[in-house]
Amino acid sequence: MSDRTPLVAANWKLHKTRSETEEFLDWFVPRAGEVDGVELVVCPPATALATAAERCTGSPVRVAAQNMHQEPVGAFTGEVSAGMLVDAGAWGTILGHSERRQLFCETDEALAAKVPAALEAGLVPILCVGETEAQRDGGQTGEVLHTQVEADLARVDVERLGGVVIAYEPVWAIGTGRTATVEQATEAIELIRDLLAARDASAAEGIRILYGGSVKPDNASELMEPAAIDGALVGGASLEADDFFAICAAAAR
Ligand code: PEP
Repeated sequence: MSDRTPLVAANWKLHKTRSETEEFLDWFVPRAGEVDGVELVVCPPATALATAAERCTGSPVRVAAQNMHQEPVGAFTGEVSAGMLVDAGAWGTILGHSERRQLFCETDEALAAKVPAALEAGLVPILCVGETEAQRDGGQTGEVLHTQVEADLARVDVERLGGVVIAYEPVWAIGTGRTATVEQATEAIELIRDLLAARDASAAEGIRILYGGSVKPDNASELMEPAAIDGALVGGASLEADDFFAICAAAAR
């Protein structure tokens, strides 16, 4: 067992209005204290961030965004900066989710700017990395993870590296109902930790590396059992408060 505090994050994607966010949190927040020793995070859409942050004040539940622009201000229509997320009460932000990489042309170059900008503003970046099915079938998983980890963290100072959370999310497992096996997840996460250790061994030891991809209440315990897997990033199964709660409880070691 590692000393790292497990973390479970709910990625709501394009779901939930402010009132739906309140309804979820009215159920979830009073129960959050029952999940001992796990950091709990909800990632609502930008419009519900401040509502969620207000509702979670004084509770152990943290609120994170799903994306962020790297520049603090400027002519970037439709974007939201790190400072704006902090102002809305965010603790962190997901960065580099595969849906953003695939559907919105998010590049490693942009992520290389976004990750340090988030850290600089005091946000915890939850950086998503992972291979497509074709890349796994082609034996390229290691190479893809290497490229993403190296490129996306290239401009993060070693002193700040420990503040990053990584989510290993094989693209073929996201929203498909197909999870990686425990062996596949462990192998990829150990590889990511080795890559981080090449930058700084002690920072690498403290960095939480989550698994994401069709985590559900009925597979969460098995997927989070290995010491290498420090929690989960949960999409579909995080939309119902009781399902998400069950996954959080499974992460309590
Ligand atoms: C995700 O979107 O990060 C995710 C893991 O989704 P799902 O749990 O639905 O596969």
